[in-house]
Amino acid sequence: MTGEQGICRACGAPMLWATMPSGRANPLNVDEVEPEASKGVVAFNPRTGHAVPVTYAEIEHCADWAEQGVTFHTSHFSDCPARERFKRPAEEPPNQEEQRSGRA
Ligand SMILES: [Zn+2]
Repeated sequence: MTGEQGICRACGAPMLWATMPSGRANPLNVDEVEPEASKGVVAFNPRTGHAVPVTYAEIEHCADWAEQGVTFHTSHFSDCPARERFKRPAEEPPNQEEQRSGRA
């Protein structure tokens, strides 16, 4: 459900579920931030549960939106402490060769 608080399954942090214009649900950090254009900040409407990315086209509306109850957040995926779990491991560290020649 959007517009509701949830808990990140990876790190246990509280978050808000928002519906983006694409229709996808996006977990937002509960903490509010200052609206900034193109910094990954989204404008969230708690009444509808919908959110839009703040772009240079929208930044001028942000003060009006805030008066109407809109809050500004960053996506939890961008700074989840456990976000490594969302990504595939990059490369195996080349440890084996060092161990083989590590005897001195
Ligand atoms: Zn998390």
